[in-house]
Amino acid sequence: MQFQLDTAEVFVPDGLPFEQALARTTHMAIGAHQDDVEIMAASPILQCFQQEDKWFTGVAVTDGRGSPRDALYKDYSDEEMRRVRFKEQKKAAVVGEYAAQVILDYPSTVVKDGKNQQPTRDLVTLLTAAHPRSVYTHNLADKHDTHVGVALRVVAALRSLPEGERPEKLYGCEVWRDLDWMVDSDKVPFDLTSHENLQASLLGLYDSQICGGKHYDLATMGRRRANATYFESHGVDVTLGLSYAMDLSPLIQDPEKDISQFVQEHIQRFAQDVADRLRRVG
Ligand SMILES: [Zn+2]
Repeated sequence: MQFQLDTAEVFVPDGLPFEQALARTTHMAIGAHQDDVEIMAASPILQCFQQEDKWFTGVAVTDGRGSPRDALYKDYSDEEMRRVRFKEQKKAAVVGEYAAQVILDYPSTVVKDGKNQQPTRDLVTLLTAAHPRSVYTHNLADKHDTHVGVALRVVAALRSLPEGERPEKLYGCEVWRDLDWMVDSDKVPFDLTSHENLQASLLGLYDSQICGGKHYDLATMGRRRANATYFESHGVDVTLGLSYAMDLSPLIQDPEKDISQFVQEHIQRFAQDVADRLRRVG
C-alpha cells in the first residue's frame, strides 16, 4: 500500500501481512496525535477486544514532532520525540489487540491546511482497503485546530467514496472539549463500564505526555466517570463510565450538507434548551 509520505508507518500486532490485517477491520478510529484514539475511541477498542469477527484499526495522522516535553524527555529533539511517540502508539496497539495501527507522519501544519489534499488521499486509500462499518474521529466542536483539521479530512475522504462504500456510522468523539453540553437527544453515549483496567492501561502507556505533568490518563478516566454520573439527574447510575459522541453520519449520507451549519444546529439546540429552562422556572 502506497501512502503519500514514504515515512508513514504501519504496525500489525499479530504479524499478519498489513493489507490482510487491514481488510479485517470493522471499526476504525482516526485521530490527530498518538494517544488520541485511546482517549476518544475506547468503546470500539473494547468492542473488538478478544473478538474473532470484530477488529479495530487505529490511525494517527500527525508525526509527534511538536509534542510538548518535560521531565525524562525534556532534552529530546523533535526526531527523538517522534520516535518515542510512535513507540508508545505501537505499544497501545499491542495492549488493545488492534487489527493494525497506521501513522501517517504529517506535520500538524499540513493537517491544518485545508488546501493540502495529501492526508485526505491517504485516508481514502485506507478506508477503501479497510472498509470499516463504523468510523470514529474528533468532534467538530473540539478546540484543537489539528483535531478539527483531521475531522474535516475524514469527512472529505468519506464523502469521496462511492455511496455504497461509505461506513454506516461516523462519530465525532471527545478529546479537547467534551460533549456534555449537547442536549441529551444529540448525545451518542458509549458505555465504558467494563475493562476499566484495560482502559487505564491504554491511557497510561503514553508516558512522554503524562510524566511532564499532564494527566491525560486520570483526566480521561475521570471524564468517563463524570459523564456516567451526570448523564441522568434522577435515579442511580446505570453505568460507571461513559463517553459521548456527536453523530456525524448525516454529513456522509448527504455529501452536500453544510458542515458548519450542521455543527451550529447542535449549538442552537443547546442554546434553546438553556433558554427554555430559564423561562420555565423563571
Ligand atoms: Zn490530539
